[in-house]
Amino acid sequence: MSTYYGPDFDALSKQDPEIAAVLLSEMTRQQKNLQLIASENFTSRAVLAAIGSTLSNKYAEGYPGKRYYGGCEEVDKAENLAIERAKSLFGADHANVQPHSGASANIAIYQAFTKPGDTVMAMSLAHGGHLTHGSPVNFSGKWFNIESYGVRSDNELIDYDELRDKAIATKPKMICSGATAYPSLIDFEKVRAICDEVGAIMWVDAAHFIGLVAGKAIPSPVPYADVVSFTTHKVLRGPRGGMILAKAEHAAAIDKSIFPGMQGGPIMSAVAGKAVALAECATPAYQKYAKDVIVNAQALAKALEAEGMRAVSGGTQTHLALMDIRSTGVTGKVADERCGAAGIVMNKNSIPNDPEKPGITSGIRVGTPSTTTQGMGVEEMKQIATLIARAIATDDASAHSAIKSEVHALTSRFPIYQG
Ligand SMILES: *Cc1c(COP(=O)(O)O)cnc(C)c1O
Repeated sequence: MSTYYGPDFDALSKQDPEIAAVLLSEMTRQQKNLQLIASENFTSRAVLAAIGSTLSNKYAEGYPGKRYYGGCEEVDKAENLAIERAKSLFGADHANVQPHSGASANIAIYQAFTKPGDTVMAMSLAHGGHLTHGSPVNFSGKWFNIESYGVRSDNELIDYDELRDKAIATKPKMICSGATAYPSLIDFEKVRAICDEVGAIMWVDAAHFIGLVAGKAIPSPVPYADVVSFTTHKVLRGPRGGMILAKAEHAAAIDKSIFPGMQGGPIMSAVAGKAVALAECATPAYQKYAKDVIVNAQALAKALEAEGMRAVSGGTQTHLALMDIRSTGVTGKVADERCGAAGIVMNKNSIPNDPEKPGITSGIRVGTPSTTTQGMGVEEMKQIATLIARAIATDDASAHSAIKSEVHALTSRFPIYQG
């Protein structure tokens, strides 16, 4: 008797060659090109096995021991493991591991602590905030009165004086810190003091940097914040999904807000994948990885500065660098396209007070979670900076294919999934 436990690529190829071909060429694309998108990473095979498993078949509305469906005894074990691992890794009172994504986790937080029309403070999108921090095209901007704060123009670091003044003036219910393109550390102690002064809930959206916290490479928001939301697929290197950590007093409100508040059944395969990733994060190897990610980001930013670009905020203390590339004479959009033609995948990004529109931009955002997972180090970062500068400097297609060959030679030395 043979038992089927998980994904079977041969079966897929036979049944659906079109989708099998997409999977193969996507794997090739990830392996051959340089992956510098700051919000991406390569999960382990163990995580892939969990998310490709039969746990995907199971409905489990509710929470372990309190489900609305029968047959949840096995998935309950997976969810309890994920919860216990999250609480122990981050020293949190409470963990909800069910959010389908970072955006879902954030919706649940708004719902738990505010009503439509309430005032919430968050980082300005133009200065690195996320869509769910008040974009006019997002539920957050449509349903809430968002007061945004930004970075100082002299040093491009969060303007805590502006944050405090605005908080005193507008009396927000909740203050969010966290961003998608902020290369520096956030002073959680200062934010806590402001929240206490105005009686606001302190919410940290740690999606980008929580993996660095997990690896003990940067300070944690958990001791300060009422509630911390994040994605599990960025530096943290888990499956695509979200998670919320909360102080004990907010545990019931958060759980209710996720289910039945805004989700139905959890994706139990993803929950199992989160448990696997959290166990990986507790290892010395991951802690070394988290430190290496920052060392690499700093080396990349420095090397790009040597090529004449300017690092926003004067450099990076995290996994990403935001580069002002106006000195190159091209926009972020053009740089993004030229690098893409040379096999270097990253994204255009607005810089603080960017004179260009968000679709054009004066900057690029580069991150090191993926290349560091591949095993690249400081020497490779220097080489990558040169390749980026050369790709940006030309619009010649044959020059871009020559750079692409060098990119492929580099990445072939760092296989993502061996064997
Ligand atoms: C990535 C990110 C999110 C959203 O995560 P999704 O899983 O894409 O919904 C939310 N907030 C911040 C700060 C992020 O960086």
